[in-house]
Parts: sequence; C-alpha cells; structure tokens
Amino acid sequence: MSETIHVVGAGLAGLACALRLADAGRRVALYEAARMAGGRCRSYFDSSLGLTIDNGNHLLLSGNAAARDYAKRVGASDALVSPNECAFDFLDARTGERWTLRPNASRIPWWIFVADRRVPGTGPLDYLDAAKLLFAKDGATIGETMRCNGVLWEKLWRPVLLSALNTEPEEASAKLAGAVLRESLAAGGDACRPMVAKGGLGDAFIEPALRTLRAKGVEPRFGARLREIAFDDSRVAALRFGDSEETLQEGDAVILATPPWIAQELLPGLVAPDDFRAIVNAHFKIAPPPGQPLLLGMIGTLTEWLFAFDDRLSVTISGADRLIDDAREELAVKLWAEVSAATGLPLEPLPPWQIVKEKRATFAATPAQEKRRPGAKTSWDNLWLAGDWTNTGLPATIEGSIRSGYKAAKLAGA
Ligand SMILES: Cc1cc2nc3c(=O)[nH]c(=O)nc-3n(C[C@H](O)[C@H](O)[C@H](O)COP(=O)(O)OP(=O)(O)OC[C@H]3O[C@@H](n4cnc5c(N)ncnc54)[C@H](O)[C@@H]3O)c2cc1C
Repeated sequence: MSETIHVVGAGLAGLACALRLADAGRRVALYEAARMAGGRCRSYFDSSLGLTIDNGNHLLLSGNAAARDYAKRVGASDALVSPNECAFDFLDARTGERWTLRPNASRIPWWIFVADRRVPGTGPLDYLDAAKLLFAKDGATIGETMRCNGVLWEKLWRPVLLSALNTEPEEASAKLAGAVLRESLAAGGDACRPMVAKGGLGDAFIEPALRTLRAKGVEPRFGARLREIAFDDSRVAALRFGDSEETLQEGDAVILATPPWIAQELLPGLVAPDDFRAIVNAHFKIAPPPGQPLLLGMIGTLTEWLFAFDDRLSVTISGADRLIDDAREELAVKLWAEVSAATGLPLEPLPPWQIVKEKRATFAATPAQEKRRPGAKTSWDNLWLAGDWTNTGLPATIEGSIRSGYKAAKLAGA
C-alpha cells in the first residue's frame, strides 16, 4: 500500500506502533522532537560518571507479553535478563532481617503455605485479602478495597503496589492494581519472574528497534517537533513541524504517540491525565559486592529498590514528589548510607554518583486520572492515539505503552 502512516513520538509506544506497521508492509514516517528516541525509557552517556546509564531503572516481569514480543521482533530478547525461578530478595533495614519471596511457578499458589517462601511473620490467610483487588469496582481506591496495614502490607503489598502504580497505594486505583495482580502473582510465579535490561534500556529497547525500522526503510526524523495539526472536517489534513509541513494524502493516517500534556496542546478538547508522579533514581559508580542480587527490595528506608548492574548500584524511589526539591548532594549522601549498610560496601568515600529526577515520570494512577484516559480512537477518521496514558487497562508501564502502540497500529490498518 502506498499510503503513509505518520507516527509522531518515538517513545516505546511510537516505536512499537511503527514496528508493527512496518512489519505489516505499511509505509511509515516516524517523527521525534528530541535528538534521540526512547522518551521516558532511554539510556544516555553521563559524562560526570563516565558511564552509560538509564534515565530510570525499569523492571519488567516475565508475564509482560507485549514487551517480550517487542524484544523478539527487534532481536533483543537476550538483552532482557531474568532468573529461571521467580524470586524477590528483600531486606528490612530496621531489623536487618532478609528474606526471599518465592512464588511457585504455577497458578495454584501453594507457596503461601510454605513459611520460607512467603514474607516472615505472615500466615497463608493474610494473602487472601489482596484477591479483593481482582474484583475491584470502578472508581474504588486500594484503600477502600483491601486492608492497608499490618506486616504483609508493609513488607509486600505497599512496596510492590507503589512501584507498579508509582502512586501512594492507598489513593491509587484498585482496578489498576487488580490488573497488575491478575497478570503477575495471580498468574503464577512463571509470569512474575523479574526481567531487567542489564545492558541498559537503549540496548534492549531502543537501538535494536531503530535498526529494525531502518532495515525496513523507516528513517526516523529527529528534532522534528510537531507544533500544530491542521484538520479538514473529520480528517487530519496536515502536520506542521517547526520547519516543515507534511500534507496528508487520501488514505494517509496519523498516530499521535506523544505524552498526554503535548497531545492536549495539539488536540484542543482532549481529556487526558493531567496529574503526574515523580520517580527519583540515584546511580553510584561502584561494582556490586559478590552475591548482590540483581534486585533488592528495601523496607524502612528512603531507598525502595536497589538494582545491581555490573558497573553501578542504582536506587529507585517511586511516588517521589516529596524529594523533587531536595538538594541532590544531600540525597546522594543519604541514599549511599542506606546502600552501604545494605551491601557492606564502605560508607566512605562516597562513590561517584548521579541523581536523576523525573518529575512527570507517569500519570498518577488514581481513579480520577484513570477516568481521564482516552481510548486509541479519536473523533477524526485518520487519527489514533498511543501512549502509556491511553486507556490500556494497565498503569503507565513499558507493557502498557507497547500494547497501546500495537493497538493503534492495528486500528490504522497493520
Ligand atoms: C524514571 C522512570 C522509571 C520507570 N520505571 C518503570 C518500570 O520499572 N517498569 C515499567 O514498565 N515502566 C516504567 N516506567 C514507565 C515507562 O518508562 C513509560 O511507561 C514508557 O516509557 C512510556 O512510553 P510512551 O511511548 O508511552 O511515552 P514517552 O516515553 O513519553 O514517549 C513520547 C515521545 O514523544 C516525543 N514527543 C513529545 N512531544 C513531541 C512532539 N510535539 N513532536 C514529536 N515528538 C514528540 C517525546 O520526546 C518522547 O520521545 C518508568 C518511567 C520513568 C520515567
């Protein structure tokens, strides 16, 4: 077919969409405002560290089917590292207690009956309460749906839900939490093995996608910021970039895969999420000690998750709006003290560090914001939306953004 599908935004949603369209033999034009692809999921060379780092540590789960399909499509399945068994290491920094959560592989959750597979100080019946999330009503918060106190809450549900939703769990949407649970723990340990792009997000998701697209004749245009969309009755007629204009021909279509605040500027009247939550990451240039797990959940500290890469230890803090104005050096010192205590690495000297604050990391996964998520279809015949903020049924995640890109591609005729 000779019609062109114009994909605007080369984050994961736009890349996924362009890949699906190109695979289906469609002609694709891909535009990206920045000088590089990846959006909120990117790697870059940090000159102060002398290392390539990610804007934020990203955790996927083995049950993320769209993300795995995407990695396979671009030949990067090997770039996602995952243990053979589902196991999550935790440390309660207040008591020094360590444990490993080890859900069994199948859907029948017999692991909750085995003391050394579950959270210490909990019993099998404690786990049943979270099943209420699977049947949550529209508009209900987690706080209204399940018990938000006690050992299991503090040592499992709160940290897991906070990182999955990037929103204080009590105020977050129970339905979104239910969707996460349904596709992870409730689907069995085989669906919730942690998966990490150990060589960086760029190597796993971005560079291979760009190579694959180029091999299919799609050359992304970087530095191409869409400034205006011109409409003609029920169709998009033209796309206006800073220095050029693309006139759409009969049969041409547009996928808008920008963040929601940009989509709202370009499409007046669009209702979209408008409340966001921050994520803060701290990267320390130091080799992890032998035996350090790839991922460590930390309780009772500012640090929530500690990722061990070959050349650095990286801390993730979700729902981190309270830290956005904190002095970076103070944060680095505080977080390193926690990491040093958890790993046994010396407190001094402070290793070379970098703090990355992503203020609008994801939309707030509250019921009110969930209601503002639009579907992929718009009121224009040749315009569809993609992005983690569209109505994917999932919180803002890699899995959600890739699914949204696939869906828009399908609607546009892939
Ligand atoms: C610090 C951090 C940690 C995270 N951790 C996880 C995690 O552990 N697990 C997980 O699954 N998810 C995680 N996420 C979420 C995940 O990164 C996002 O859901 C996903 O990257 C969103 O992709 P997207 O394509 O929908 O949007 P974006 O990545 O925002 O892509 C939009 C693209 O559009 C471009 N653009 C904007 N305006 C224009 C314009 N006018 N014209 C052309 N292009 C434009 C942007 O430059 C950008 O490249 C995290 C996010 C952050 C920030």
